[in-house]
Amino acid sequence: MANVRLEDIKRRFNNVTAIEDISFEIPDGEFWVLVGPSGCGKSTILRTIAGLETATSGKLFIGDRLMNNIPARQRDVAMVFQNYALYPHMTVAENIAFGMQMRKVDRKVIQDRVLNVARSLSLEHLLDRKPKQLSGGQQQRVALGRAIARQPQVFLLDEPLSNLDAQLRDDTRAELKQLHQNVGITTVYVTHDQVEAMTLADQIVVLNRGRIQQIGDPQSIYANPANQMVASFLGNPPMNILPAIAQYEGFNVSGQLLEIPTTLQAKLQLHQGKSVDLGIRPEHITINTDSAAITENSALLSVEVKVVEPLGRETLIRASVPDSSVLLNVQVGGAVRLHPGDRLSLQLDLNHLFVFDSTTGDRIF
Ligand code: ATP
Repeated sequence: MANVRLEDIKRRFNNVTAIEDISFEIPDGEFWVLVGPSGCGKSTILRTIAGLETATSGKLFIGDRLMNNIPARQRDVAMVFQNYALYPHMTVAENIAFGMQMRKVDRKVIQDRVLNVARSLSLEHLLDRKPKQLSGGQQQRVALGRAIARQPQVFLLDEPLSNLDAQLRDDTRAELKQLHQNVGITTVYVTHDQVEAMTLADQIVVLNRGRIQQIGDPQSIYANPANQMVASFLGNPPMNILPAIAQYEGFNVSGQLLEIPTTLQAKLQLHQGKSVDLGIRPEHITINTDSAAITENSALLSVEVKVVEPLGRETLIRASVPDSSVLLNVQVGGAVRLHPGDRLSLQLDLNHLFVFDSTTGDRIF
């Protein structure tokens, strides 16, 4: 096993800069997830670590050894892609054993390792089958098993679950997490799925347009996003974004004043008159049924109900702010008696309000 360190990695393709200023260090044994929208540079970073791509500049270390000029096959990394190409004429056992046979590992060792890997991925009963006799999820587990059996220093996974249907994806995701808990190989996992990032990662690296936006553990990135891109990317339903103008007493949201307490007014002083985007997550909005129940450090906003979606344990309400095109997601516990067209007063928890510069997306507070 090994740590992985990237120092100021840049990759340019002709005149397109795919990634730049990429620096981070993954401690030995941790599971890191690279996440971001399509084209943000995730795969380029992963392929650079694998040795399938050469950095235009910067340094890559695996286990403190400089890897820039080391060919892919000598890097002792194993990579699994979304299209888990298994050898169709080989059984599951032969597929898992293949990499070890190529490296002339002792037969008995191979046998033991195949069994161990199959056990940890619940594949024991399938060892004699050929890939076409397996489901997609089983095939992907074999591909994972083949990579793990090689006992690489680093495990690289590029959207390994994206070809699976929703249920299989959830199951395989949980297995992958358990597998990492068992074997503890340093892992870099690429996805554009924020749920996978949140559930699997020790640390998440959020990327946008080839640059790192934020690095942190899932909870702290969710609770304390560095900018509007990160804030909007993580969370389902996503964070609500309300365009507003900063004023002395609060924020003007399409003609409604969202009043804020004096402590926040002081923070806002430098930004008066500025266009901002207010960010608030659906779980930090409540329905204000009784004016006496207004809690401290909250602000009121009038909206009109558009859609009510009962989800069993909770209800998702989509509501519009009058005189604007803004739609808000509100998540409330249990069932509610609401209908499209109802007028509501919402209470926004200002302890969880983010304010972003509407031009740059930078966080103001
Ligand atoms: P996706 O989620 O769609 O796979 P990604 O985040 O993995 O995207 P990359 O595949 O790393 O993104 O691509 C980053 C940028 O570099 C994109 O703008 C892409 O078009 C560009 N790029 C990647 N590979 C090449 C290449 N071989 N030649 C030219 N441009 C490339």
